[in-house]
Amino acid sequence: MPGFSKMKDNENWMICARCGKKAYGARLRIQGSEIDGWKCKCGEEYLEPIQAERLLLQNKLKSAALEVKLGRIRSNLIVRIPKRIEEALELKSGEKVMLKVISEKKLEMIAK
Ligand SMILES: [Zn+2]
Repeated sequence: MPGFSKMKDNENWMICARCGKKAYGARLRIQGSEIDGWKCKCGEEYLEPIQAERLLLQNKLKSAALEVKLGRIRSNLIVRIPKRIEEALELKSGEKVMLKVISEKKLEMIAK
């Protein structure tokens, strides 16, 4: 995943609001996923806010089944992906995804 991984952890820090010392960039585990953030030696952890918000949205969408309508462009059937799924999964127009037939009624889309 791009982001802070490009930086060396010792160059990526913030001042800890709890103890006033430096909290350094780290990968933090939250709700079964890993996101970027900062970790202080005092034990305080700070989540990268945009990634944290996206993770919350993803977890909310996991339990929801959304009805969408199939359309057609020339000879191809198309599925319209709702905006909130686009944003939560950071899907981009033109991006390639994998489609897998699971059963007669189930199709799985795998984003890269
Ligand atoms: Zn601290």
